[in-house]
Amino acid sequence: MFSDTTHYFRQAAERMGIGERVQRLLEKPKRTVKVEVAVELDSGDLAVFQGFRVQHNGARGPFKGGLRFHPTVDEDHSMALAALMTWKSAIVDIPYGGAKGGIDCDPNQLSPGELERVTRRFVSEIHEVIGPHKDIPAPDVNTNAQIMAWIMNEYSRINGYSPAVVTGKPVDLHGSPGREEATGLGVTFAIQRYLERKGLSIAERRYAIQGFGNVGSHLARHLHQRGGKVVAVSDVHAALHNPEGLDVPKLLEHMGARGTVKGFEGGDALPRDDLLYVDCDVLVPAALGGVFTQENARDVRAQLIVEAANGPTRPAADAIFNERGVDIIPDVLANAGGVIVSYFEWVQNIQQFRWELEDIRGKLDRFISGGCKTVFDLAERKKIPYRTAAYIVAIGRVGKATVLSGI
Ligand code: NAD
Repeated sequence: MFSDTTHYFRQAAERMGIGERVQRLLEKPKRTVKVEVAVELDSGDLAVFQGFRVQHNGARGPFKGGLRFHPTVDEDHSMALAALMTWKSAIVDIPYGGAKGGIDCDPNQLSPGELERVTRRFVSEIHEVIGPHKDIPAPDVNTNAQIMAWIMNEYSRINGYSPAVVTGKPVDLHGSPGREEATGLGVTFAIQRYLERKGLSIAERRYAIQGFGNVGSHLARHLHQRGGKVVAVSDVHAALHNPEGLDVPKLLEHMGARGTVKGFEGGDALPRDDLLYVDCDVLVPAALGGVFTQENARDVRAQLIVEAANGPTRPAADAIFNERGVDIIPDVLANAGGVIVSYFEWVQNIQQFRWELEDIRGKLDRFISGGCKTVFDLAERKKIPYRTAAYIVAIGRVGKATVLSGI
């Protein structure tokens, strides 16, 4: 996966005429930490997982990025996702560098007590490299506000009271209003800005969303509230299709009760991965990476892909989409809402002051829309894909900070 991120980085860096040595400096992570996370299971047995924290580039500020608890977590994934965070923070112009990490465990196989012990053990192994002005983790796949609360507590136990060490905390424990919906709402704003340029509105398009977790479910809710027709959704268990538009509030209720979209009666069941090929205008991958490949890119019928997930498009698929004239709003722009409101949470923690939800939503719109304007303008002026334009903006900003700081 790191090779995919590197591919997109080099594509832009070469267009900018950046030399091989500077490319190498900006491409590789600054630090990679790998730890053994040993815990006692409820059965009394010992389990040992591997934990990772990769810090990619800190020229523009402290490292920032999510923690993922998933069996696919490894050094390569963490490197790729850390680099994406560097570029993402630069594109929406917030003062952070990029990091990412996680543990190669499956939280569905762990009891709440085991999950807490795994989390605390991981923090005790990496606490020297994280901190409110060093590296600030956040939620990602299979991690949530409760896990962030344990991280804050464990870090504070070792280093003293430090709510700003992690973002995405519960609102009742130094979290920010609006953080949970932030990525889905940010994706909504990015879609809105794109459609406005085409003289269209959210209500005039049909949407299919892969993944109905934090990002996918909030996105569906915000699209629906603006009159958008969500015609298909999926999660790890099932896919649902209704060409007339799914009843999103009822689907969210079903999801709340069952924890899956499976069994919802307001739509027809589809084989899970067929969601990618349904008739829709906008397709939003909001699950894991590597979804679009050389094998399936020609079967996608949407005219716009919005990358809510990180790294959903392999380079071969990206080339096919470009050749077919399918627009892509890239991950480094589309899903930046999460890190933007994480930034707001961090600022509130440092100021010890609480902002209002409406204020946060307004500021989120401003940051995402600013990123969209810069990227869309450049892409249109140079007649290049949005992804290349986004990387050019990011590399320019990170490169400038690196040069100004002195190597
Ligand atoms: P999540 O764990 O809350 O949800 C993931 C969803 O994907 C679940 O509904 C799961 O069932 C589904 N899923 C998993 N495998 C699937 C498959 N093969 N087919 C269909 N659905 C599948 O995670 P999330 O926080 O919503 O993150 C989703 C994506 O968004 C990830 O790529 C993540 O890196 C990215 N992202 C998240 C945030 C954030 O703030 N949470 C910010 C930026 C980017």
